[in-house]
Amino acid sequence: MISLYWVATGGFAFLSLLCFCVFIGMRRMTSLGWLAATMVLGTIETLFLAEMDTSATSSVVVTMLTPLVYLCFAQAVRAVLNQRHQNWPIYGAVLALSIGSVVLKLTGVPFVSRTSVFQLACALAVLDIVQRLYVHRVRGGLEWALLAVMVVMMGVYVFRGVTYPFIYPMGTEYSAIRAGGAERMTLTISALCSVVAVFVLLAQIINGVIVTYRLRSESDSLTGLLNHQAFYRVASRAGKTGGSVVVCDLDYFKSINDRFGHQAGDVALCAFADLLQASGYQAGRVGGEEFALIVPGLSPMAAKIEAERLRKRLSDLDLADMPGDLRITASFGVAGYEPGEEPRQAFSRADAALYRAKAQGRNTVVVSEPAPEQKVAAA
Ligand code: GH3
Ligand code: MG
Ligand code: MG
Repeated sequence: MISLYWVATGGFAFLSLLCFCVFIGMRRMTSLGWLAATMVLGTIETLFLAEMDTSATSSVVVTMLTPLVYLCFAQAVRAVLNQRHQNWPIYGAVLALSIGSVVLKLTGVPFVSRTSVFQLACALAVLDIVQRLYVHRVRGGLEWALLAVMVVMMGVYVFRGVTYPFIYPMGTEYSAIRAGGAERMTLTISALCSVVAVFVLLAQIINGVIVTYRLRSESDSLTGLLNHQAFYRVASRAGKTGGSVVVCDLDYFKSINDRFGHQAGDVALCAFADLLQASGYQAGRVGGEEFALIVPGLSPMAAKIEAERLRKRLSDLDLADMPGDLRITASFGVAGYEPGEEPRQAFSRADAALYRAKAQGRNTVVVSEPAPEQKVAAA
Protein backbone atom coordinates (compact mmCIF):
# COMPACT_ATOMS: atom_id res chain seq x y z
CA MET A 1 0.00 0.00 0.00
CA ILE A 2 1.26 3.49 -0.82
CA SER A 3 2.24 5.42 2.31
CA LEU A 4 0.29 8.54 3.18
CA TYR A 5 3.58 10.44 3.21
CA TRP A 6 4.18 9.62 -0.43
CA VAL A 7 0.68 10.81 -1.33
CA ALA A 8 1.37 14.06 0.59
CA THR A 9 4.79 14.41 -1.06
CA GLY A 10 3.21 13.93 -4.52
CA GLY A 11 0.51 16.49 -3.70
CA PHE A 12 3.00 19.05 -2.41
CA ALA A 13 5.33 18.41 -5.38
CA PHE A 14 2.43 19.08 -7.74
CA LEU A 15 1.57 22.31 -5.86
CA SER A 16 5.26 23.33 -5.93
CA LEU A 17 5.37 22.93 -9.68
CA LEU A 18 2.08 24.80 -10.06
CA CYS A 19 3.25 27.70 -7.87
CA PHE A 20 6.60 27.81 -9.67
CA CYS A 21 4.98 27.87 -13.14
CA VAL A 22 2.53 30.60 -12.10
CA PHE A 23 5.44 32.49 -10.50
CA ILE A 24 7.26 32.49 -13.85
CA GLY A 25 4.01 33.22 -15.74
CA MET A 26 3.26 36.21 -13.50
CA ARG A 27 6.66 37.77 -14.24
CA ARG A 28 8.29 36.68 -10.99
CA MET A 29 5.71 38.08 -8.64
CA THR A 30 7.31 38.17 -5.15
CA SER A 31 4.42 36.61 -3.19
CA LEU A 32 4.19 33.69 -5.63
CA GLY A 33 7.97 33.26 -5.48
CA TRP A 34 7.85 32.84 -1.70
CA LEU A 35 4.85 30.54 -1.96
CA ALA A 36 6.72 28.44 -4.55
CA ALA A 37 9.75 28.31 -2.20
CA THR A 38 7.44 27.28 0.66
CA MET A 39 5.99 24.46 -1.41
CA VAL A 40 9.38 23.22 -2.64
CA LEU A 41 10.78 23.13 0.91
CA GLY A 42 7.50 21.61 2.16
CA THR A 43 7.83 18.83 -0.43
CA ILE A 44 11.42 18.04 0.60
CA GLU A 45 10.43 18.13 4.27
CA THR A 46 7.52 15.70 3.75
CA LEU A 47 9.85 13.42 1.78
CA PHE A 48 12.29 13.23 4.71
CA LEU A 49 9.49 13.01 7.30
CA ALA A 50 8.69 9.50 6.04
CA GLU A 51 12.26 8.38 6.86
CA MET A 52 12.56 10.22 10.15
CA ASP A 53 12.30 7.18 12.43
CA THR A 54 15.24 5.36 10.88
CA SER A 55 17.62 8.01 9.60
CA ALA A 56 19.43 10.64 11.70
CA THR A 57 19.97 12.76 8.56
CA SER A 58 16.23 12.83 7.90
CA SER A 59 15.60 13.91 11.46
CA VAL A 60 18.09 16.78 11.14
CA VAL A 61 16.66 17.86 7.76
CA VAL A 62 13.10 17.87 9.12
CA THR A 63 14.21 19.78 12.23
CA MET A 64 15.84 22.52 10.16
CA LEU A 65 13.31 22.64 7.32
CA THR A 66 9.99 22.75 9.18
CA PRO A 67 10.45 26.21 10.75
CA LEU A 68 12.03 27.42 7.49
CA VAL A 69 8.89 26.42 5.58
CA TYR A 70 6.82 28.63 7.87
CA LEU A 71 9.28 31.51 7.55
CA CYS A 72 9.01 31.31 3.74
CA PHE A 73 5.23 31.25 4.02
CA ALA A 74 5.45 34.30 6.33
CA GLN A 75 7.41 36.11 3.59
CA ALA A 76 4.69 35.22 1.06
CA VAL A 77 2.09 36.65 3.50
CA ARG A 78 4.29 39.74 3.95
CA ALA A 79 4.36 40.29 0.17
CA VAL A 80 0.59 39.77 -0.18
CA LEU A 81 -0.15 42.22 2.67
CA ASN A 82 2.38 44.71 1.29
CA GLN A 83 4.23 44.90 4.60
CA ARG A 84 7.75 46.23 4.89
CA HIS A 85 8.74 45.19 8.38
CA GLN A 86 10.77 42.08 9.14
CA ASN A 87 10.55 40.38 12.55
CA TRP A 88 14.30 39.87 12.95
CA PRO A 89 14.18 38.87 16.68
CA ILE A 90 11.74 36.08 15.79
CA TYR A 91 13.95 34.85 12.91
CA GLY A 92 17.01 34.87 15.18
CA ALA A 93 15.17 32.93 17.88
CA VAL A 94 13.82 30.41 15.34
CA LEU A 95 17.31 29.84 13.93
CA ALA A 96 18.89 29.48 17.38
CA LEU A 97 16.20 27.03 18.56
CA SER A 98 16.45 24.97 15.33
CA ILE A 99 20.24 24.69 15.65
CA GLY A 100 19.88 23.96 19.38
CA SER A 101 17.41 21.19 18.57
CA VAL A 102 19.84 19.62 16.03
CA VAL A 103 22.71 19.85 18.53
CA LEU A 104 20.59 18.12 21.19
CA LYS A 105 19.72 15.37 18.68
CA LEU A 106 23.36 14.85 17.69
CA THR A 107 24.50 14.71 21.32
CA GLY A 108 22.05 11.89 21.97
CA VAL A 109 19.41 13.71 24.05
CA PRO A 110 16.20 11.62 23.87
CA PHE A 111 13.33 12.85 21.69
CA VAL A 112 10.95 13.64 24.55
CA SER A 113 13.55 15.84 26.29
CA ARG A 114 14.44 17.85 23.22
CA THR A 115 11.13 18.10 21.34
CA SER A 116 9.96 21.26 23.19
CA VAL A 117 12.87 23.21 21.68
CA PHE A 118 11.85 22.18 18.14
CA GLN A 119 8.12 22.77 18.77
CA LEU A 120 8.93 26.25 20.14
CA ALA A 121 10.95 27.07 16.98
CA CYS A 122 7.95 26.10 14.83
CA ALA A 123 5.46 27.95 17.06
CA LEU A 124 7.59 31.12 16.83
CA ALA A 125 7.85 30.85 13.03
CA VAL A 126 4.04 30.54 12.84
CA LEU A 127 3.77 33.49 15.27
CA ASP A 128 5.47 35.64 12.63
CA ILE A 129 2.58 34.86 10.24
CA VAL A 130 -0.06 35.39 12.96
CA GLN A 131 1.49 38.74 13.91
CA ARG A 132 1.51 39.90 10.28
CA LEU A 133 -2.15 38.99 9.81
CA TYR A 134 -3.07 40.52 13.17
CA VAL A 135 -1.51 43.94 12.52
CA HIS A 136 -2.99 44.13 9.02
CA ARG A 137 -5.79 46.68 9.37
CA VAL A 138 -8.14 45.70 6.56
CA ARG A 139 -9.08 42.09 7.13
CA GLY A 140 -11.40 40.45 4.62
CA GLY A 141 -12.79 36.92 4.80
CA LEU A 142 -9.61 35.38 3.39
CA GLU A 143 -7.38 37.13 5.94
CA TRP A 144 -9.64 36.00 8.78
CA ALA A 145 -9.59 32.41 7.45
CA LEU A 146 -5.79 32.45 7.21
CA LEU A 147 -5.48 33.97 10.69
CA ALA A 148 -7.75 31.26 12.16
CA VAL A 149 -5.79 28.48 10.43
CA MET A 150 -2.47 29.89 11.64
CA VAL A 151 -3.68 30.26 15.23
CA VAL A 152 -4.73 26.59 15.17
CA MET A 153 -1.34 25.68 13.69
CA MET A 154 0.47 27.58 16.44
CA GLY A 155 -1.77 25.87 19.01
CA VAL A 156 -0.68 22.48 17.64
CA TYR A 157 3.02 23.24 18.19
CA VAL A 158 2.43 24.74 21.64
CA PHE A 159 0.33 21.69 22.57
CA ARG A 160 3.09 19.28 21.48
CA GLY A 161 5.85 21.28 23.15
CA VAL A 162 4.00 21.58 26.45
CA THR A 163 2.36 18.15 26.74
CA TYR A 164 4.76 15.60 25.17
CA PRO A 165 7.43 15.83 27.92
CA PHE A 166 4.66 15.02 30.44
CA ILE A 167 2.57 12.41 28.65
CA TYR A 168 5.44 10.30 27.30
CA PRO A 169 8.11 8.55 29.41
CA MET A 170 11.60 10.02 29.06
CA GLY A 171 13.16 7.39 26.76
CA THR A 172 10.27 7.14 24.25
CA GLU A 173 11.52 7.47 20.70
CA TYR A 174 9.62 9.27 17.93
CA SER A 175 8.53 6.04 16.17
CA ALA A 176 6.49 5.09 19.23
CA ILE A 177 5.07 8.60 19.60
CA ARG A 178 4.12 8.73 15.92
CA ALA A 179 2.02 5.59 16.36
CA GLY A 180 0.13 7.23 19.24
CA GLY A 181 -3.20 9.07 19.03
CA ALA A 182 -1.93 12.52 20.06
CA GLU A 183 0.72 12.69 17.32
CA ARG A 184 -1.62 11.28 14.68
CA MET A 185 -4.23 13.88 15.59
CA THR A 186 -1.79 16.82 15.60
CA LEU A 187 -0.14 15.64 12.35
CA THR A 188 -3.55 15.41 10.65
CA ILE A 189 -4.56 18.87 11.92
CA SER A 190 -1.29 20.50 10.82
CA ALA A 191 -1.42 18.76 7.39
CA LEU A 192 -5.00 19.99 6.87
CA CYS A 193 -4.09 23.49 8.07
CA SER A 194 -1.09 23.59 5.69
CA VAL A 195 -3.22 22.70 2.67
CA VAL A 196 -5.97 25.18 3.62
CA ALA A 197 -3.37 27.92 4.28
CA VAL A 198 -1.70 27.43 0.88
CA PHE A 199 -5.02 27.53 -0.96
CA VAL A 200 -6.26 30.57 0.98
CA LEU A 201 -3.04 32.48 0.28
CA LEU A 202 -3.18 31.45 -3.38
CA ALA A 203 -6.79 32.71 -3.51
CA GLN A 204 -5.63 36.00 -1.96
CA ILE A 205 -2.86 36.36 -4.54
CA ILE A 206 -5.29 35.68 -7.41
CA ASN A 207 -7.78 38.14 -5.86
CA GLY A 208 -5.03 40.79 -5.65
CA VAL A 209 -4.12 40.24 -9.31
CA ILE A 210 -7.77 40.61 -10.39
CA VAL A 211 -8.21 43.83 -8.35
CA THR A 212 -4.96 45.27 -9.79
CA TYR A 213 -6.00 44.55 -13.37
CA ARG A 214 -9.51 45.91 -12.77
CA LEU A 215 -8.10 49.15 -11.34
CA ARG A 216 -5.68 49.37 -14.23
CA SER A 217 -8.48 48.88 -16.75
CA GLU A 218 -10.59 51.56 -15.05
CA SER A 219 -7.96 54.23 -14.66
CA ASP A 220 -6.34 56.54 -17.16
CA SER A 221 -2.69 55.56 -17.46
CA LEU A 222 -1.37 59.15 -17.66
CA THR A 223 -3.26 60.91 -14.87
CA GLY A 224 -4.50 58.02 -12.72
CA LEU A 225 -8.06 59.41 -12.79
CA LEU A 226 -10.97 57.22 -13.85
CA ASN A 227 -11.04 56.73 -17.60
CA HIS A 228 -14.00 57.68 -19.80
CA GLN A 229 -15.85 54.36 -19.48
CA ALA A 230 -15.30 53.89 -15.73
CA PHE A 231 -16.21 57.51 -14.98
CA TYR A 232 -19.58 57.33 -16.75
CA ARG A 233 -20.28 53.99 -15.10
CA VAL A 234 -19.68 55.57 -11.66
CA ALA A 235 -21.70 58.64 -12.70
CA SER A 236 -24.70 56.54 -13.67
CA ARG A 237 -24.92 55.34 -10.04
CA ALA A 238 -24.74 58.84 -8.54
CA GLY A 239 -28.35 59.89 -9.12
CA LYS A 240 -29.91 59.10 -5.72
CA THR A 241 -29.40 62.43 -3.99
CA GLY A 242 -29.39 64.80 -6.95
CA GLY A 243 -26.54 67.21 -7.47
CA SER A 244 -24.40 68.66 -10.24
CA VAL A 245 -21.82 67.70 -12.80
CA VAL A 246 -18.90 69.78 -14.01
CA VAL A 247 -17.10 69.30 -17.33
CA CYS A 248 -13.88 71.15 -18.06
CA ASP A 249 -11.48 71.50 -20.95
CA LEU A 250 -7.99 73.04 -20.99
CA ASP A 251 -7.77 76.22 -23.06
CA TYR A 252 -5.59 76.41 -26.17
CA PHE A 253 -3.95 73.18 -25.14
CA LYS A 254 -2.84 72.35 -28.65
CA SER A 255 -0.66 75.45 -28.67
CA ILE A 256 0.99 74.35 -25.37
CA ASN A 257 1.92 71.06 -27.05
CA ASP A 258 3.12 72.90 -30.13
CA ARG A 259 5.26 75.39 -28.18
CA PHE A 260 6.67 73.26 -25.36
CA GLY A 261 6.34 69.74 -26.63
CA HIS A 262 4.03 66.84 -25.91
CA GLN A 263 5.82 65.93 -22.68
CA ALA A 264 5.24 69.39 -21.19
CA GLY A 265 1.60 69.01 -22.26
CA ASP A 266 1.44 65.75 -20.30
CA VAL A 267 2.85 67.50 -17.21
CA ALA A 268 0.09 70.10 -17.48
CA LEU A 269 -2.57 67.39 -17.83
CA CYS A 270 -1.29 65.62 -14.72
CA ALA A 271 -1.14 68.87 -12.75
CA PHE A 272 -4.77 69.63 -13.60
CA ALA A 273 -5.77 66.04 -12.82
CA ASP A 274 -4.09 66.37 -9.39
CA LEU A 275 -6.10 69.53 -8.68
CA LEU A 276 -9.33 67.73 -9.59
CA GLN A 277 -8.37 64.72 -7.48
CA ALA A 278 -7.57 66.98 -4.51
CA SER A 279 -11.07 68.49 -4.72
CA GLY A 280 -12.33 65.27 -3.14
CA TYR A 281 -15.05 64.76 -5.78
CA GLN A 282 -15.15 61.82 -8.18
CA ALA A 283 -13.16 62.93 -11.21
CA GLY A 284 -12.47 61.38 -14.59
CA ARG A 285 -10.48 62.09 -17.72
CA VAL A 286 -13.19 61.81 -20.34
CA GLY A 287 -11.18 62.95 -23.37
CA GLY A 288 -7.68 64.09 -24.35
CA GLU A 289 -7.71 67.35 -22.36
CA GLU A 290 -11.28 67.07 -21.15
CA PHE A 291 -12.19 66.18 -17.60
CA ALA A 292 -15.41 65.79 -15.61
CA LEU A 293 -16.48 65.84 -11.98
CA ILE A 294 -19.56 64.55 -10.19
CA VAL A 295 -20.60 66.83 -7.35
CA PRO A 296 -23.42 65.02 -5.55
CA GLY A 297 -25.65 67.03 -3.24
CA LEU A 298 -24.62 70.44 -4.58
CA SER A 299 -26.89 72.79 -6.52
CA PRO A 300 -25.45 74.15 -9.81
CA MET A 301 -24.73 77.49 -8.12
CA ALA A 302 -22.81 75.79 -5.27
CA ALA A 303 -21.01 73.60 -7.85
CA LYS A 304 -20.13 76.77 -9.76
CA ILE A 305 -18.31 78.08 -6.67
CA GLU A 306 -16.33 74.81 -6.53
CA ALA A 307 -15.54 75.09 -10.25
CA GLU A 308 -14.45 78.73 -9.80
CA ARG A 309 -12.10 77.60 -7.05
CA LEU A 310 -10.55 75.00 -9.36
CA ARG A 311 -10.33 77.47 -12.26
CA LYS A 312 -8.49 79.97 -10.05
CA ARG A 313 -6.13 77.32 -8.63
CA LEU A 314 -5.22 76.19 -12.14
CA SER A 315 -4.58 79.66 -13.49
CA ASP A 316 -2.37 80.41 -10.44
CA LEU A 317 -0.42 77.19 -10.87
CA ASP A 318 3.30 77.53 -11.39
CA LEU A 319 4.46 74.61 -13.48
CA ALA A 320 8.05 73.43 -13.62
CA ASP A 321 9.28 72.75 -17.21
CA MET A 322 7.29 75.75 -18.45
CA PRO A 323 8.36 79.37 -18.69
CA GLY A 324 7.44 81.30 -15.53
CA ASP A 325 4.96 83.57 -17.27
CA LEU A 326 2.98 80.76 -18.83
CA ARG A 327 -0.38 80.16 -17.23
CA ILE A 328 -2.64 77.24 -18.05
CA THR A 329 -6.32 77.89 -17.91
CA ALA A 330 -9.48 75.85 -18.37
CA SER A 331 -13.10 76.50 -19.15
CA PHE A 332 -15.90 74.91 -17.15
CA GLY A 333 -19.53 73.96 -17.78
CA VAL A 334 -21.86 73.15 -14.88
CA ALA A 335 -25.30 71.49 -14.88
CA GLY A 336 -27.57 70.04 -12.23
CA TYR A 337 -29.59 66.83 -12.01
CA GLU A 338 -32.66 66.07 -9.90
CA PRO A 339 -32.78 63.32 -7.25
CA GLY A 340 -33.44 60.02 -9.00
CA GLU A 341 -32.41 61.43 -12.39
CA GLU A 342 -29.38 59.88 -14.08
CA PRO A 343 -26.57 62.46 -14.38
CA ARG A 344 -26.03 61.45 -18.05
CA GLN A 345 -28.48 64.11 -19.31
CA ALA A 346 -26.76 66.70 -17.14
CA PHE A 347 -23.45 65.99 -18.88
CA SER A 348 -24.95 67.05 -22.23
CA ARG A 349 -26.20 70.31 -20.67
CA ALA A 350 -22.81 70.88 -18.98
CA ASP A 351 -21.12 70.28 -22.37
CA ALA A 352 -23.33 72.98 -23.92
CA ALA A 353 -22.41 75.34 -21.05
CA LEU A 354 -18.70 74.55 -21.60
CA TYR A 355 -19.12 75.38 -25.27
CA ARG A 356 -20.52 78.78 -24.23
CA ALA A 357 -17.61 79.31 -21.78
CA LYS A 358 -15.23 78.80 -24.71
CA ALA A 359 -17.24 81.22 -26.84
CA GLN A 360 -17.13 83.82 -24.04
CA GLY A 361 -13.33 83.90 -24.21
CA ARG A 362 -12.33 80.84 -22.09
CA ASN A 363 -10.93 80.66 -18.51
CA THR A 364 -14.46 80.97 -17.17
CA VAL A 365 -17.29 78.94 -15.59
CA VAL A 366 -20.75 78.86 -17.15
CA VAL A 367 -23.82 77.26 -15.57
CA SER A 368 -26.26 75.44 -17.84
CA GLU A 369 -29.14 77.68 -19.02
CA PRO A 370 -31.92 77.45 -18.22
CA ALA A 371 -30.61 76.01 -14.94
CA PRO A 372 -33.05 73.43 -13.61
CA GLU A 373 -34.50 74.22 -10.22
CA GLN A 374 -32.38 72.21 -7.84
CA LYS A 375 -34.09 70.85 -4.81
CA VAL A 376 -30.92 69.77 -3.11
CA ALA A 377 -29.42 71.94 -0.47
CA ALA A 378 -26.09 73.54 -1.11
CA ALA A 379 -23.47 71.89 1.04
P1 GH3 B 1 -9.72 74.95 -26.88
O1 GH3 B 1 -9.35 76.09 -26.02
O2 GH3 B 1 -10.77 75.30 -27.87
O3 GH3 B 1 -10.10 73.77 -26.09
O4 GH3 B 1 -8.43 74.60 -27.74
P2 GH3 B 1 -7.52 73.37 -27.58
O5 GH3 B 1 -6.25 73.62 -28.33
O6 GH3 B 1 -7.36 73.02 -26.16
O7 GH3 B 1 -8.37 72.21 -28.23
P3 GH3 B 1 -8.09 71.25 -29.44
O8 GH3 B 1 -9.24 70.28 -29.44
O9 GH3 B 1 -7.85 72.00 -30.70
O10 GH3 B 1 -6.76 70.50 -29.09
C1 GH3 B 1 -6.69 69.57 -28.06
C2 GH3 B 1 -5.26 69.07 -28.02
O11 GH3 B 1 -5.04 68.21 -26.91
C3 GH3 B 1 -4.90 68.30 -29.27
C4 GH3 B 1 -4.08 67.14 -28.74
O12 GH3 B 1 -2.82 67.11 -29.35
C5 GH3 B 1 -3.92 67.42 -27.27
N1 GH3 B 1 -3.93 66.18 -26.50
C6 GH3 B 1 -4.90 65.26 -26.40
N2 GH3 B 1 -4.51 64.26 -25.59
C7 GH3 B 1 -3.27 64.55 -25.15
C8 GH3 B 1 -2.32 63.91 -24.29
O13 GH3 B 1 -2.57 62.84 -23.73
N3 GH3 B 1 -1.13 64.52 -24.07
C9 GH3 B 1 -0.83 65.73 -24.66
N4 GH3 B 1 0.35 66.26 -24.40
N5 GH3 B 1 -1.68 66.34 -25.49
C10 GH3 B 1 -2.88 65.78 -25.73
MG1 MG C 1 -9.04 72.41 -25.04
MG1 MG D 1 -11.11 69.46 -26.06
